[in-house]
Amino acid sequence: MKSLEKFNKKIWPAYVNPEKNELFSSWLLRISKENLLKSHSFSKFYFNNFPIWNRDIDKLYPSIIVSKILENTMLSSDDIKELFLESYRDIIFTGREFTSYTPGILNIGINHRIRKLYGLLCCPSCLNNEVSYFKKEWRLFFSIACLKCNCLLIDRCQKCSKPISFHRLENGHKNEILKTPFYFCWNCLHDYRENIVPIPNNSHIVRYQKYIDCTIDNKSNDLTQYSFMFFKILYLLSTKLLTTGKTTNRIKLTVEDFFNYSITTNNKINFSLHERKEALLISFSILENWPYQFQNIFKSSNVRRTDFSRDIKDIPYWFEKEILNLH
Ligand SMILES: [Zn+2]
Ligand SMILES: [Zn+2]
Repeated sequence: MKSLEKFNKKIWPAYVNPEKNELFSSWLLRISKENLLKSHSFSKFYFNNFPIWNRDIDKLYPSIIVSKILENTMLSSDDIKELFLESYRDIIFTGREFTSYTPGILNIGINHRIRKLYGLLCCPSCLNNEVSYFKKEWRLFFSIACLKCNCLLIDRCQKCSKPISFHRLENGHKNEILKTPFYFCWNCLHDYRENIVPIPNNSHIVRYQKYIDCTIDNKSNDLTQYSFMFFKILYLLSTKLLTTGKTTNRIKLTVEDFFNYSITTNNKINFSLHERKEALLISFSILENWPYQFQNIFKSSNVRRTDFSRDIKDIPYWFEKEILNLH
C-alpha cells in the first residue's frame, strides 16, 4: 500500500472518485472492482469486515466506514457524508435518529442480501453514461423523473419485475470481480436501457420534478424557508391520497372528485413508483398557486382540519394556517 507521508494517509492501491450524487453502495462496488476485489472482500480488508449488504448501508452511515475512507483517501468528511442518505437530513427529513422508516426515504426491504421492496429507482438513460453509477436521489419518495435525460425513472426490471439490486450483479462469479454493467438486471440480465420513457418538455411531470430538484438544491422554496417542512406536507398529502383506510378517506374522496380522477392503490405502505407518481403529481397540483387551489378544493368540502393533522406532529406553519380555516 502506498503511503502519502505528507498527509499521513495510506491510499488504497486503486482509486476512483465518487461521481456527483453517487450512493456509497454504488461507489463501493466501483472501487472494489478497481482494486480487483469483490465488495465483500473489500469490506473485509478495508472496513474491518463491516457487513455491507444485509443492511441498508446507504442509510446507515457507519462511523467505522467513514473513518476508514478518511484514512485511505483524500476525501473530506463532508465529501464522505455526501455519499450517504444522511446528507438529506434537514433537507428531506429532520430529527435526530434514522429509524427503520424515514419519511421521504424509500425502504428497500432487506432480508439478508435480498431486497424485497422497490426502494431503489434508476434512470435507464443515466446508466448509459460513460461512468455508470447509482444516484442518491434514486432513493427518494419524491423522485419520479430525470431532468438530465427527460425521461421517467423505473423502480423494477421491466421484464422480470424484480427490484433493482445492483450489488447482486457480483453473484454467480465466484472469486471474480464485477463484470456485468449496472444497466443489466441482476436476475434476468434484461437491459434497463431498453426502457427509456421520454417525457415532453413542458409536461406537469417536468414542472413537478424541477420544483423538487430546486427545493433540494436551495434547501428551501417559495412556500417555506426550510425544505423539510415542504417535503413533510407533500409526503402527508401523497400518503393521504394513497390511503386505503376508511377514516382518512375524506381527503382522498374530495380530491378525486375535484380532479375527476381515481387514484389506484394496492399497497398499504410501500407504494410502487407508479402509485407514488399519481399521488405526487396531484399533491403538487394542490400545492400549486398556494393557497388558492387548496382553498378551492377543500373550503366547501366536508374535510376537517383533523383529517390532515391527526397523523402528524409539528405541522409547519405555512400549512397549518390554511387548515385552521377548515371545519
Ligand atoms: Zn437520467
Ligand atoms: Zn429482470
